[in-house]
Amino acid sequence: MVTLAIKGGEPLIQKKFKKYNPIGEEERLAVDRVMTSGVLSRFVGGWGEDFNGGEEVQAFEKEWAEAFNVKHAITVNSWTSGLICAVGAIGIEPGDEVIVTPWTMCASATAILHWGGIPVFADISLDDYCLDPASVRASITSKTKAIMSVDIFGRSANMDELTGVAREFNLKIISDCAQAPGAVFQGRMAGTIADIGGFSLNYHKHIHTGEGGVVVTNDDELALKVRLIRNHAEASVKDAGLSDITNMIGYNFRLGEIESAIGREQLKKIKLLLSGRVETAELLIERLSKLKGLHLPKPNDVGVNWENVYYVLPMRLTDPVLKVKSRDQIVDALAAEGVDGLMKGYGLVYQLPIFQQKKCFGNFGFPWVINGVTNDVSYSQGICPIAEKLHNETFIGYEVCLFDLSEEDIDLIGKAFDKVWKEMNLN
Ligand SMILES: *Cc1c(COP(=O)(O)O)cnc(C)c1O
Repeated sequence: MVTLAIKGGEPLIQKKFKKYNPIGEEERLAVDRVMTSGVLSRFVGGWGEDFNGGEEVQAFEKEWAEAFNVKHAITVNSWTSGLICAVGAIGIEPGDEVIVTPWTMCASATAILHWGGIPVFADISLDDYCLDPASVRASITSKTKAIMSVDIFGRSANMDELTGVAREFNLKIISDCAQAPGAVFQGRMAGTIADIGGFSLNYHKHIHTGEGGVVVTNDDELALKVRLIRNHAEASVKDAGLSDITNMIGYNFRLGEIESAIGREQLKKIKLLLSGRVETAELLIERLSKLKGLHLPKPNDVGVNWENVYYVLPMRLTDPVLKVKSRDQIVDALAAEGVDGLMKGYGLVYQLPIFQQKKCFGNFGFPWVINGVTNDVSYSQGICPIAEKLHNETFIGYEVCLFDLSEEDIDLIGKAFDKVWKEMNLN
């Protein structure tokens, strides 16, 4: 008799998997190089040679722009900072609406609030878990100024259709590609198709510098505005000859020389590191593909670049299985067997208190209330039925950047799924 671990049986997986770690000797040597130079940062706020930072920062940006085939790459101390720069640079003003996906982490939406903009949540598509262009279209009002698209889990949104909607209504697009560095949409690098895009370099992501981020754009004026917001937007605003100074509230979002030196080494390895994640995810897809009622993404077509870089392997349960057990019962049983790194759903940003209570700048309701006029955009349950059903009932994510799995580990995970499916009578 085989007993499920959740009912007191032996867990099928008895080992801890090795942690994914993209940092190696090259990064250590790069840090050493910076330490020996004694220059840990060289930014100054004044307009001049050092306005754009030191040697490592500038080299990292140049190399990133080349690798991503984009005109400007601008480093920042986090992608949250990058998102704030991007929303500021496109000129979002208090009361402007920006359409955003709920299927992301908070910064994609709160960056909009930082400039007094109003996040309006559109639903996602079951094809890619990114914004559904039809739902975006249905969410447009006379106040809509931009779309905040998120290439969630490592796969690009449908940029053709989103760009079509944006053109029709004269909207800007920002691409949050925090989880998708190196992802490709129809031959073009994710992030570079939008007006502004960018990537996170925090330590959870595919490649990292501890903390950090990179903004990318092909637009010279947007690049200048991002550089100004990143670096105080002080006297530099006048010296840069900027005619429209909207949103020139400066921050200090500068990345240091040490992080930039690490980033340069990470960038050299990015293809290798991504191929490891893609291989892991696709071996898992193959191993799990025979399970009934488990929907998996289609593997990438073979090529030099990847459509999907799998930050998370997205899966969902379908009716035959859900009629027998709930998603949470199944995930709990898998976790008890030793499958670490599974997520039940992915959160819905509008469920956060800041949206539920519409309270962020003091107590006067700004930006939902401006000069006594209220924008009564809804953040209630029901606004994004597809995302809600996924989060509450059907979605299971596997975090591909948590562990470095061997083929044997992948087979063990497969065996744990097989066991749960068999013992719970899901097949
Ligand atoms: C990680 C992440 C961010 C934030 O990036 P930081 O570098 O941690 O500030 C934003 N959006 C998404 C989708 C992310 O996954």
